[in-house]
Amino acid sequence: MGIQPLLRGVRLGFIVLILAMDGLTNPAAAQAPPPFGLVVHGGAGTIRKSDLTPEQEQAYRDKLTEALQAGYAVLSRGGTSLDAVVATLNVLEDSPLFNAGKGAVFTHEGTVELDASIMDGQTRAAGAIAGVKHVRNPINLARMVMEQSPHVMMAGAGAEAFAVEKGMEMVENAYFYTERRRRQLEQAKARESSMGAALPEGVSEELSPGAYKFGTVGAVALDQAGNLAAGTSTGGMTNKRFGRIGDSPIIGAGTYADNATCAVSATGHGEYFIRGVVAHDIAAMMAYGGKSLQEAARTVIMEKLTAMGGTGGVIAMDREGHVA
Ligand code: ASP
Repeated sequence: MGIQPLLRGVRLGFIVLILAMDGLTNPAAAQAPPPFGLVVHGGAGTIRKSDLTPEQEQAYRDKLTEALQAGYAVLSRGGTSLDAVVATLNVLEDSPLFNAGKGAVFTHEGTVELDASIMDGQTRAAGAIAGVKHVRNPINLARMVMEQSPHVMMAGAGAEAFAVEKGMEMVENAYFYTERRRRQLEQAKARESSMGAALPEGVSEELSPGAYKFGTVGAVALDQAGNLAAGTSTGGMTNKRFGRIGDSPIIGAGTYADNATCAVSATGHGEYFIRGVVAHDIAAMMAYGGKSLQEAARTVIMEKLTAMGGTGGVIAMDREGHVA
C-alpha cells in the first residue's frame, strides 16, 4: 500500500490537515503490516477566501504534503514516531510559509521568539524550549532537551547556551524574518492602537486576528513498533510582549503523547489551551472516562474549549491509528 494522503481543508479550523497511513484499513487481517501513520497540521485560524489565492493555497498544500512524505518515509522504513515527527516538522520550520522557524511571526519588538515541544508516547519522556531566538530548528532542540538533559523545559538564553554546547545549528535572528510577517506586525499594532475601532485606512481585513495566528505546525505519528509521538513548533502570536509563551511548548497543553491513550498537537489561542490543559484533557477523557479518541477530542475542543471562549483545534492519533 502506498502513501495515501487525504487532503482536507476545514473551514474555521485547520487550514490544511493531511494524513498518511498504512495498514490501517484492516490492521487485524492475517499478516497485515502493523498500522502506522502520521498527521500534520499547519495551524488554525479563520481563513476566508480573500486570505489566500488558489496559488498560495496550493503552496501550503504542497509544503504540507512534502513534510508528510518526509515523515512517512521514516515510518515506512521502520523508523520511530519521534524521528518521523522531527522530519516532518523540520520541513515546515524551514519553509517561510508557516509560523515556525523561518517565517515565524514577529514579537512587539520586531524580533522572532520560538517555542517547541515534543513527547515520546512510549516512555512519556518530553522536551520543550521557549523563547529561543537563534536556533534554526526549535523542534530539534526540544528533542535534545528530552534526550540529552535531565530536564523537560528550557527557556531563553539558557536554552540557547545548551544548544550551542550540543552543537546545534544557530542562526541570526534575521534568518527568521519575512516581509509578510513584518507587515502583519505593523497591522497588528495599527489595530491595537485603533482599540478595536474600524480598521485604519490601508489596513486590510486579511490581517484580522485570526490571520495573525495562522501557521503553527504540529505532527502526531504512530510507528510500526506501536509507539506514538507528538510535536509542535511555533513563533507564538504576532505582537506578543513581555516574554509571552503560549501552549505549544507546554506539555499537556499544546503537546502530549502516551501510548496508553493518544498523541496530540494543538494550535490556536494558546492561553485557553494552557488553562484547559487541552492535550492532556483529551488523553485523560480516554484514560478515565473510557472515551474514544474522537469523542474525547470533540468534547474537549467543541464543548470545553469553546465554552471557555477559546478557539483553535488539535490533531490526535491513538495506538490503533484512529485519527481526530
Ligand atoms: N498556540 C500558539 C500560541 O498560542 C499559536 C498558534 O497555534 O497559532 O502560541
